[in-house]
Amino acid sequence: MSKFIFVTGGVVSSLGKGISGASIGKLLQLRGLKVNMIKCDPYINIDPGTLSPYQHGEVFVTADGAEADLDLGTYERFLDVPMTKKNTNTTGTIYQAVIDRERRGEYNGQTVQVVPHITNEIKSRFTPFENDFDVTIIEIGGTVGDIEGLPFLEAARQFKTARGRENVLNIHATLIPYIASAGELKTKPTQHSVNKLREIGLDPDILICRTERPLSQDLKNKLSLFCSVAPEAVIEAADVASIYQLPQSFEKQGIAELILKRLNLKAKKKPAADWFKFIDKATKGGKKVVKVGICGKYSELKDAYKSVAESLNLAGMSNNADADVKYINTQKDQIPAALKGLDAIVVPGGFGQRGVEGKIACIKYARENKIPFLGICLGMQCAVIEAARNLAKLENADSSEFNAGCKNPVVTLIGGQKGVMRLGDWESKLERGSLAHKLYKKTSVRERHRHRYEFNSAYAPALEARGLYVSGWHKNSLPEIVERRDHPFFIAVQFHPEFASRPMKPHPLFDGLIKAALNNKKAKKTK
Ligand code: GLN
Repeated sequence: MSKFIFVTGGVVSSLGKGISGASIGKLLQLRGLKVNMIKCDPYINIDPGTLSPYQHGEVFVTADGAEADLDLGTYERFLDVPMTKKNTNTTGTIYQAVIDRERRGEYNGQTVQVVPHITNEIKSRFTPFENDFDVTIIEIGGTVGDIEGLPFLEAARQFKTARGRENVLNIHATLIPYIASAGELKTKPTQHSVNKLREIGLDPDILICRTERPLSQDLKNKLSLFCSVAPEAVIEAADVASIYQLPQSFEKQGIAELILKRLNLKAKKKPAADWFKFIDKATKGGKKVVKVGICGKYSELKDAYKSVAESLNLAGMSNNADADVKYINTQKDQIPAALKGLDAIVVPGGFGQRGVEGKIACIKYARENKIPFLGICLGMQCAVIEAARNLAKLENADSSEFNAGCKNPVVTLIGGQKGVMRLGDWESKLERGSLAHKLYKKTSVRERHRHRYEFNSAYAPALEARGLYVSGWHKNSLPEIVERRDHPFFIAVQFHPEFASRPMKPHPLFDGLIKAALNNKKAKKTK
């Protein structure tokens, strides 16, 4: 039987509830407990698949094909537990399930209501892992006080009442703002948000206080008194240089022991130290710096390329280097001028025509100047178009997505069909002796996909004659990977390797890219 931890947020959004929850999960996991995490998003969309990255950052894709909130990426990176469709819920999917049931007549003539029907459906989503994991951490998205979040909080309240305090814990993440003119940290917003929680019938067991300044013992005592939590349960979440340092900062404050005590759980071993050691070493200064450009169209919003940036960061950490990411806007920036000084170039995934010409120009520059290059999904499709146009001189070669009138569609809809989206894990067979084979060190890989278009393999021979060859296939028919033999590191893939990077386990393609970038430059050191 699993124990449960709810993580709610107060005062403002973007407090890092996901990172705090995942850090707590990590500390329990390092003690030998099996931990899983669930996200509940109060918005009405069925999933973020149709949301603009400007609204919600990147869409994280799970191996079983869910298009999910980027917090699931944080959970996977911290816990190294594969996320699934069962790890993500939205108000949309919950109402859809209830309404479908109502249409099938399964409510036997009852009036269908938020309480109990919606809340029962929500509660059923809290428990899919209870037989296989010791602890399930459930993050409730949004901020306490939002209308949309109420059914989730009500469901959490009912759940805690039914299961008992020794089985369910509430953690409330909040902000302690610093008012510069008064020279003071302020607790009042936290008091209000805890009151809001109490109105709903939930009382926090632990407060996680996001703050730019250290919390004094006096301030902790005050929060303890007004919010009715034990002083040792007031945990400081100071800003950290790397998010992977947060578990250690929590560890020092004894949060894991407190949780174990409250939930009547026993650690299965002493906290394993290798994770802490790795993070300590990797976050020290004085490393070689490699400048990597992420060439996309959402350069203003870093969250749009979160997993790509994290993959570069993690590959840097494993290679004793700092990956300094520069976001290039392929629609607005001057290409190739904006690429000067880069040690490696990534063209990430994306949808739609905007910025595509700039991406193609970035790839041409990487190819001609022998800059290590990794293309992802749309990035691979652009690499194919670049070779078709500039090397094979295929007249009017393009993608049918961008140019309906193109004579030579080198990138076409999957199976020529509209509305087909290939999602989740698919297998690729790798050509022996290829760069892909060298990096993965195996001939068969499963990677996550999210695309509607594919490289039209009819053009593979024409492009191979010009040096761009297919080194990975799905079932001998669908090109998955292209690369060049006349370049130190040029590889582009139809899938999304960025979702599979972990601390201490960088993804082989990103690891290879960083190694190639390090080889390629006279490395400078950080201060
Ligand atoms: N828009 C392209 C497609 O649908 C690429 C998708 C992506 O990069 N995720 O195939």
